[in-house]
Amino acid sequence: MSLTLALSKGRILQDTLPLLSMAGIELLEDPETTRKLIVQTSHPEIRIVMVRATDVPAYVENGAADLGVAGKDVLMEHGAEGVYEPLDLQIARCKLMVAGKIVEQLPPGRLRIATKFVRLTQAWYAARGEQVDVIKLYGSMELAPLMGLADRIVDVVDTGKTLLENGLEPKELICSISSRLIVNKASLRRQHRLIKPLTEKLAEAVRYKMSAAEAYVS
Ligand code: AMP
Repeated sequence: MSLTLALSKGRILQDTLPLLSMAGIELLEDPETTRKLIVQTSHPEIRIVMVRATDVPAYVENGAADLGVAGKDVLMEHGAEGVYEPLDLQIARCKLMVAGKIVEQLPPGRLRIATKFVRLTQAWYAARGEQVDVIKLYGSMELAPLMGLADRIVDVVDTGKTLLENGLEPKELICSISSRLIVNKASLRRQHRLIKPLTEKLAEAVRYKMSAAEAYVS
């Protein structure tokens, strides 16, 4: 029996590798440069699979991977009822926000909101009793208000630089986001021997990183 951990390239991978390293697990190949989608680790019973960020919940929910690291935005948007979420890794932190043009003239009727987070956007406006038209996009959300495709956007924001460089600004905070460790429910029972110590070591790494960051600030 071995463990498969699903990760996605980019921010999540960059931030997860140091935590894995602190837990004593090193990747045997650099996933950013190799074309291999399955990467072995220094732990003989743990391997990594590289998948798209939005596919991580599907892999874990269906047991194709035992564990995964997924952004809370992805978990909320795609629904991940079938998985455990035992640990907030406090990485890839950002905010889900409504943004719009710095100088804007909103129409009197329903707003058009461009986003890839259709479910979250609909739920957020519905909870406020506001009716909006949601336009599903797959990327470059910032362009939509500039080109008159939408009045506002809903997107994840980190520094806000991308918004500003495109003449946009954050208007409202929907929620804060970070990446979570998710675990397949059947795997947790069957692979408890491996999953429990791994989760504990990762939790310890997160605590250490957070306290180091706090000490740096103060
Ligand atoms: P920013 O630092 O706000 O300019 O963000 C740069 C780009 O990265 C924007 O297009 C954001 O949508 C995206 N982004 C920021 N933080 C995250 C994150 N944690 N996960 C995924 N995408 C992000």
